[in-house]
Amino acid sequence: MTEPKTKIVQAGIGSDPAHGSVAPPLYLSSTYLWPSPSEKREYDYGRSNNPNRDFLAEALTEMDGGAGAVVTTSGMAAIDLVLNLINADDLVIAPHDCYGGTHRLLTHRAAQGRIRVAFVDQGDAAALADALSRSPALVMIETPSNPLMRILDVKAVCSAAKAAGAITVVDNTFLSPLRLRPLDLGADIALQSTTKYINGHSDIIGGCVVAKSPEHVEQLAWWANAAGVTASAFDCHQTLRGLRTLALRLDAAESNAKAIAQYLTQQTHVTAVHYPGLKTHEGHDIVMAQQAGPGAMLSFEVAGGLDAATRFCQALELFKLAASLGGVESLICLPETMTHRGMEESARREAGISESLLRLSVGIEAKRDLFADLMKGFADIQ
Ligand SMILES: *Cc1c(COP(=O)(O)O)cnc(C)c1O
Repeated sequence: MTEPKTKIVQAGIGSDPAHGSVAPPLYLSSTYLWPSPSEKREYDYGRSNNPNRDFLAEALTEMDGGAGAVVTTSGMAAIDLVLNLINADDLVIAPHDCYGGTHRLLTHRAAQGRIRVAFVDQGDAAALADALSRSPALVMIETPSNPLMRILDVKAVCSAAKAAGAITVVDNTFLSPLRLRPLDLGADIALQSTTKYINGHSDIIGGCVVAKSPEHVEQLAWWANAAGVTASAFDCHQTLRGLRTLALRLDAAESNAKAIAQYLTQQTHVTAVHYPGLKTHEGHDIVMAQQAGPGAMLSFEVAGGLDAATRFCQALELFKLAASLGGVESLICLPETMTHRGMEESARREAGISESLLRLSVGIEAKRDLFADLMKGFADIQ
């Protein structure tokens, strides 16, 4: 069996029948010739199918070990697409600390009367059992959570959700299938914002859904075509180009993140470090059991409140102040005023997000330069 990292390098390579190009050509055409009115070729219209989208879908399918993949215009489109698998008034269970965009989408779909939704702390066994006793049609899972890196046992939650009759969906954006393979752990569907690690260069918005059963793949592909949320040829071409180096990028970023997490634990101005790779991190044993590595996302809290956290991120030069994650470049964000500003303050506190929490998406730059940059931040809040 060829390994996933070989598959993603090879996807679409040497497949050009016309000129034998090594890299796959970019097929921008929206429509394709019919040999005769009764004979259709493999490709006929770009919303329904496109060679570049198929090359990417094939690579994503292989990485997750699914039956097929649908590539969408964004991560949010991928999440909305999955909601087509359930009926009006069906109950969706989502993490109470899920991605903000997911929280907004589910809340407003519920307000429209399209679904019902319950946000639950899935790490609380009693709360999860109570939610599952309400016969949900779909259970969404995210691990590690954003921004506190809380860990969920995917196998345990999927098996309990399955027993309750729900479709299980894992948003695997923070890790990618090279670190967590949700379908192997019992999930029906794995989805991602390909905007993040998959493309990896912060220059594309995209998403994907990979399903374990051919029936789900067929339904998802049908809806993606019907609703027109399939990704463009150009975006798929660029995303596959980025994906080819995912294994190298993740190894480098993760190695940097491990070193930075250790360094942060030694700083007097740091009051907490949240990184799944630390032995002290709650759920570290689950990380070791279910993941191929701890990933490159982490968060930490500094002494001195919002003021110190603000000064810290403004003192940095390499770590760019921006939301998003998973690119080759390092980013820093202040959830209090950036990614989580849409939440009520009380809800942020209840979720454990303090005003001095900083989140890092660690990139692949040289370690010593990243350390030197962080030192500037600490010098500024002494
Ligand atoms: C970014 C993100 C999304 C949304 O993806 P877009 O590509 O921005 O639409 C969904 N889930 C998680 C965990 C994310 O980080």
